Amino acid sequence: MTNDYKLTIAWLYPDLMSTYGDRGNIICLQKRCQWRGIDVKIKPITLETQNSQLSGCNLIFMGGAQDRQQKLAANDFLNNKAPVVKQMIENYIPALFVCAAYQQIGHFYRPFQGQDIIGASIFDLSTIHPGDQAKRLIGNVAARLIYPDVLSGTVIVGFENHGGRTSLGNKLKPLAKIIGGFGNNGQDGFEGAFYKNAIGSYFHGPLLPKNPQIADWLIKSALEVKYAKNITLAFLDDSLAQLARQKILDRLKIIYER
Ligand code: GLN
Repeated sequence: MTNDYKLTIAWLYPDLMSTYGDRGNIICLQKRCQWRGIDVKIKPITLETQNSQLSGCNLIFMGGAQDRQQKLAANDFLNNKAPVVKQMIENYIPALFVCAAYQQIGHFYRPFQGQDIIGASIFDLSTIHPGDQAKRLIGNVAARLIYPDVLSGTVIVGFENHGGRTSLGNKLKPLAKIIGGFGNNGQDGFEGAFYKNAIGSYFHGPLLPKNPQIADWLIKSALEVKYAKNITLAFLDDSLAQLARQKILDRLKIIYER
């Protein structure tokens, strides 16, 4: 049973980086802990929060944003929070970075106008927006997980909406293989990235309510790192989530039948 476990989730820039409904990932993690009797706390980490507040956290989440908000968060992330986040990821603290956040853990994001937004170089990746004439990568998206190993082969669904095209360094593992949609750059057939227990992804949706296997993997990994032992999570009925996933897979199939 998991009802004597505690978990603290760091939610980075909830006021700036949650433009595409990514707060749904926090709600999903919170409910899936509460339904299992896990004492879960959400700690908002804003521009004003001291980075020392991060160190007691067991799981990290940062969501997507338009270029303007991404820029507002970038300096604080780079100069204050990222050094602590980097160390936590090196210590196998699980993390999920979605879209703009995924871009910000790389080396830089080059918007279609203005200066490069320098990233934290936690992941070996870079992102370039090819210009305001370029097609925005938007729509339902499906992919087959490559990592984490325990979920390899699982089909995940979501919604993507980004102008930036992300290229992974040759040692950085892609999270998944695209089945339908664009993914990292619409060219190499990959989506997201994976390093130790940290996930970067372009999947909004939000990602976790539609793909509860990833939510549970994050929760389980966070508990196992914190308590230094194997932990089994109680079963939850995810039939509703399955229906939502099938809906998107059906839609993608219709698009691909045309
Ligand atoms: N501003 C970034 C881009 O357009 C990220 C967008 C997002 O977070 N959905 O690529």
